[in-house]
Parts: sequence; C-alpha cells; structure tokens
Amino acid sequence: MFIDDTIAAIATAPGEGGIGIIRISGEKSLQVAESIFKSVTGKQIKDYNTRTLIYGTIVDGEKIIDEALVAYMKGPKSYTGEDVIEINCHGGFISVKKILELILSKDVRLADAGEFTKRAFLNGRIDLSQAEAIIDVIKAKTDKAHEVAQSQLEGSLSKKIRELRFKVTEVLAHLEVSIDFAEEDVEEITYKTLRENAEDIKNEIKKLYDTSESGKILRDGLKTVIIGKPNVGKSSLLNSILGENRAIVTDIAGTTRDVIEEFVNIKGIPLKIVDTAGIRETEDIVEKIGVEKSKESYNTADLVIMVLDSSRPLSQEDREILETLENKKTIVLLNKTDLPQKIDIDELSKYVDCSSIIKISALQHKGLEELQDKIEAMVYKGSVKNSSNLMITNSRHKDALLKAYESINDAISAIDQSMPYDFIEVDFKNIWDYLGYINGDTVKEDLLDTIFANFCIGK
Ligand code: GDP
Repeated sequence: MFIDDTIAAIATAPGEGGIGIIRISGEKSLQVAESIFKSVTGKQIKDYNTRTLIYGTIVDGEKIIDEALVAYMKGPKSYTGEDVIEINCHGGFISVKKILELILSKDVRLADAGEFTKRAFLNGRIDLSQAEAIIDVIKAKTDKAHEVAQSQLEGSLSKKIRELRFKVTEVLAHLEVSIDFAEEDVEEITYKTLRENAEDIKNEIKKLYDTSESGKILRDGLKTVIIGKPNVGKSSLLNSILGENRAIVTDIAGTTRDVIEEFVNIKGIPLKIVDTAGIRETEDIVEKIGVEKSKESYNTADLVIMVLDSSRPLSQEDREILETLENKKTIVLLNKTDLPQKIDIDELSKYVDCSSIIKISALQHKGLEELQDKIEAMVYKGSVKNSSNLMITNSRHKDALLKAYESINDAISAIDQSMPYDFIEVDFKNIWDYLGYINGDTVKEDLLDTIFANFCIGK
C-alpha cells in the first residue's frame, strides 16, 4: 500500500509534565524538521547519525519557540516503517501545541487516532494482533494484564496463529494434490489422516478459545457490584479492599449518589467495582437516579458481591435481595463475624450455594484473602492460571476463533461422511481465512479503520 502524505501529532498525554513529544511520520518528515530546527552546532539533522538526539531550538523564522531534542529515525527501521522525526520539547500545553501548529503549516496533516500504529501495520512492521496489543499495553490496569498484552505485542499470538495456519496450509496442499491429480498415480490423503489433522487443529483452536473469557476480564475488568441493605458494611468492605489494592479510579461523575467506578487489583484481575447506592426502593428523586443506575449495573454485572450482617437474623429485605440473585455469579459475604452471630445459615443456604458464602469482618480486615482467592478461582475456573501469557483478550480475535472452530467442525463432519475432497477443501479455506483475521492477513480496509479508531491520537 502506498502512503504519500506526512502526518504529525502530539504523542504525550495532555497536561503539565517535564517533556512533551511531537511525532512526525512520512516522506517529508526530515525536510519539515530541518526547516524548524536549529541545532547548537549549526549542523543539519541529516549530518548526524540517525537515532541520535540532537540539541537545539525550534524556530518559527527568527523566533525561538522552545528548546528541544530532536531525533531522526530513518525508515524502514522506525516505528511506522517510514521516516520519523521525534521532537522532545518542554511539557505543558503551549510548547507542544505551538510546535505542532508550526509543523501542520508545512503541508503536514494531523494524524488520525492510531494512525502511526496503522502505518506500522500497513508497512509490515507488525501484524494486526501486535498493533492491537499496543493499545492494550497502554490501557492495562494491572501487571498481569500488562504482561499478557506485552507478550502479544512481542508476537506470541502472531506466532501461534502462524503455526495454526501452517497446519491448515499443509492439509490444503494435500487436498489440492488429491483433487488435481486424482486420475494419476499420486498418493491421495486418506480420510483417516484428514480426520487426525482436523482433530489436532480443532483442539488447538479450542485451547486458545478457552482462554478468551479470562482474557477479556484481564483486559476490560470484571464488572462487580456490591449489594446489600444499608449498614451491613458495604462501604467498609470497599474501603478495606481499596486500601490494599486500589489501582485506578475512573470518572467519578455526578453527585456522591451517582454510581462510582473504581478498578481494584485482585491478584492481577482488574475488578471494576461499581459502588451501588443499595437496591432498595425509594421516593427521593435524586436517590432514585442512583438506585436505578445501581439496578442497571447489577443486571449487567459479571460478579455480584452481596453483603449480609451476620450479627443479625435475616430480614425481609435481605430475603428479597437474595431472591433476585438467581443465575448470577454471586459471592455472599457474612460480615461482622467479630460480633456474636445471629444469622441462620441453614435458612441462607436455601437461597445460595454454601460454597459461595465467605465469612469476613470488614472492620478487622479478616476473610479478605479468602474473598480474593474465590474471585481468582471464579475467573480462571481453576484452570491454568497465570502459567501462560498467551491469552485471547480481544473480542475480535475471539469471534474469529469461534468462526474457525465452526468451520473445523464442518470439515470434520464432511470428512466423517466421506464427502468429496473439494467439499472439505472449502471448510479448510474458511479456517485459513478466519485465522487470518487475527493477524490481519485477511482483514478488509474498513475494518482496519474501526480498529485503529479506538487508539489515542499520537499512537
Ligand atoms: P453500608 O451502609 O452497607 O455501606 O455499611 P457501612 O460500611 O457504612 O457500615 C455500617 C456500620 O457497620 C458502620 O458503623 C461500620 O463501622 C460497621 N461495620 C462494618 N463492618 C463491620 C465489621 O466487620 N464488624 C463490625 N463490628 N462492624 C462493622
């Protein structure tokens, strides 16, 4: 693909900071940089070795805009594969903005979101799964999520997909020979061998697909709501978990009665905790908005943590909440176990499975480790936890694998019915295509635009 325009953008996050970086990529990068940069030595950028930091000033005519360090990365050995200039200037809003404006006045276009990475992909520097990993690295909320994204960026998924597609290609090659030279004396692939190969590919696809549920949670977080009637200790519990594990707080919008979302790091799993206003009915309008939002988040939650006060008998309100729990992934916490116990566990076990009940004391920070173990076990379902960083975290990859899986099943049933080879070949070609969606070999241009639109500007 031929890309002929030059793009620029601020690569650092907006706000006050030590340095700000502006990136330029494309044919005109060097020429534009030469026209706005004066090195202290008086030499031009092209006189230096590439990938050298050169000290000087950014100038608009005679006027100095800022001090800067400039580096020139000559294509194809650069992030985008094109000629790239990076300008390190002072941080804050004004320097970077002024320098960017100056560059954009020189027939350079403002880069779209993710366009640098898109160019890296189009120029063959990285495949699509690696490009997508870059955004996951940037957005990772826990160390574990970061490790998985980093491993994908290094090419672990790309390699796996290449291996799988190679196996498919081998089967296709055998099928083609058997079809094309059916009349001649070539050794045809047997249905038995086909079946074995297909089973092998199917198992590999399934193994990869099975990581997708935990993978998605690692990437996007486990949406968790804490429910229970007033005064059972929900806030105390939240503070207790947050105290040790607070990761990232996102938009705390609206009033304090609004739904608050925070990310908590539980053994590498980002728990997206939605602090609910309780789910009781209310007449108060403001409160009602909070309560309605709570119910909404409760219905879409991946995990519901219900808190009960174990120092009191079950109340009607508790029972009503317990009744709404069916079919939800639930953990029931019996809080205040430091006090004399009044709750009737036998009655409680009519509503929930005993294995999902944990005794805690939010006040004394007791039982929280068990809660964390329970959450971890739920996410990884006791499977290969943490052992591999090769996981499917992206729903686009998951969908492609599912389609490939359906096609391999079609292939297997065609083989079992001893269908003609060209019939079976169609299924294997589909598998090859679907797997190619993941590394971008068989992806269409409009889909690329959608994928890269999720990136930030300057990446
Ligand atoms: P919420 O309304 O469900 O959020 O409940 P709070 O977290 O505000 O707690 C209500 C009251 O119970 C507060 O006075 C807490 O100090 C107290 N509380 C919370 N957890 C415990 C606990 O584990 N043991 C005891 N004894 N008191 C607790």
